[in-house]
Amino acid sequence: MALTSRPRGTNDIIPGEIELWLELEEKIRSVCKAYGYQELRTPLFEHTELFQRGIGDATDIVEKEMYTFMDRGERSITLRPEGTAPLVRAYIENNLGSGALPVKLFYYGPMFRYERPQAGRYRQFTQFGCEALGSADPLLDVETIALPLALYESCGLSGFEVEINSIGCPTCRAAYREKLIEFFTPHRDDLCKSCQGRLERNPMRLLDCKVESCHVVMRDAPEITEYLCTDCSEHFEGVLTYLDAFKIPYTLNSRLVRGFDYYTRTVFEVVSSELGSQNAIGAGGRYDGLIEEVGGKPTPAVGYAVGVERLLLALKGQNKLQLSPTGPNCYVAHFGGATKLKAAQIVQALRARGLWMELDYGDRSMKAQMKAANRLNSQFVLVIGEDEMANNRAVVRNMENGQEEPVSLEDMEQLTKIVGAWAK
Ligand code: AMP
Repeated sequence: MALTSRPRGTNDIIPGEIELWLELEEKIRSVCKAYGYQELRTPLFEHTELFQRGIGDATDIVEKEMYTFMDRGERSITLRPEGTAPLVRAYIENNLGSGALPVKLFYYGPMFRYERPQAGRYRQFTQFGCEALGSADPLLDVETIALPLALYESCGLSGFEVEINSIGCPTCRAAYREKLIEFFTPHRDDLCKSCQGRLERNPMRLLDCKVESCHVVMRDAPEITEYLCTDCSEHFEGVLTYLDAFKIPYTLNSRLVRGFDYYTRTVFEVVSSELGSQNAIGAGGRYDGLIEEVGGKPTPAVGYAVGVERLLLALKGQNKLQLSPTGPNCYVAHFGGATKLKAAQIVQALRARGLWMELDYGDRSMKAQMKAANRLNSQFVLVIGEDEMANNRAVVRNMENGQEEPVSLEDMEQLTKIVGAWAK
């Protein structure tokens, strides 16, 4: 393994790209503010049991995708594979549910899953998630969908589609579970190894399997929507009513079950026409049992997670990622010695006023410095020579239109005004 290659499935975000991330993060914060969601930051690792209990033992993530290790104190630790279970843990531990409900929170940061890397699927990836805890109102399910859609739209993304389903509550699922076992058992030999293993433990997971032979079997499987209890049916109808009221187009997908055991009732996924096989740019659902499962009071909740890398890929596919080129406000060129000292003082003074200032760190020729200013895309250049030093006066040159303006080397306010006014 070369020391110069990063671990498989990870990415560096380098200058030139990071600006897009920062812009997106700003949009996330702005849309969360409008919907009243506050940021919560949790550790990058948690006790393994939180995910085993929270996400469910018989899920792909817990069975084979977690980065789990023993720490030096012999505790089993896992790098977080998702953000909801940690958020719920933090909600309970910090007693965040003691005030007015619902509590609306968002998180943003890296998640870790040992998956087979490919375009749009990584071992370290970034999720933005919004979660509303403390209300079973179907309006919140729809708000949790509307928020990321507002984000996609504010980025200029088009061509995405909402798929939605209800997977009921433990009551209606018990009957459905039996029906599924009854249906799949005669086909056991046609199922993949994982599905065979899960048939009795967690038959709903089979609906989520991506293996072709399982897909064929699944075609005639019973649909959960026929088994929903009255409460779950009414809730789902409420969700669809609000989706219509918000004019959010959706497709009903009775096979959508999602990869976590904690979901109840509503589940949804947003897919982009821009991406290949990894086309989900976000997904979520209601998890009315999770807070109690983790040790809190019974509390209904609903949430959504956006895959940030995939959103950026989809935006790239639609050429929605053009940023205007940036550069320093001013490059201060000098002739070394005392002129360099003066240049450094000016740079220091204007940086303190918030401007992006650059200068030559070696003692390169004036020609080389001009080349550097151009390469950096500097908006202004100020040249400090012996004469300028002696008179305390110089000219600042606008690199866009070639105009020059005389300035005093003692009047930092004047310089700030001139080179700051052009900030792109
Ligand atoms: P999930 O937490 O599995 O419901 O995923 C929510 C969203 O996160 C997905 O719709 C993807 O956009 C994104 N996502 C999930 N897993 C990965 C991964 N391994 N690499 C990149 N993005 C991912």
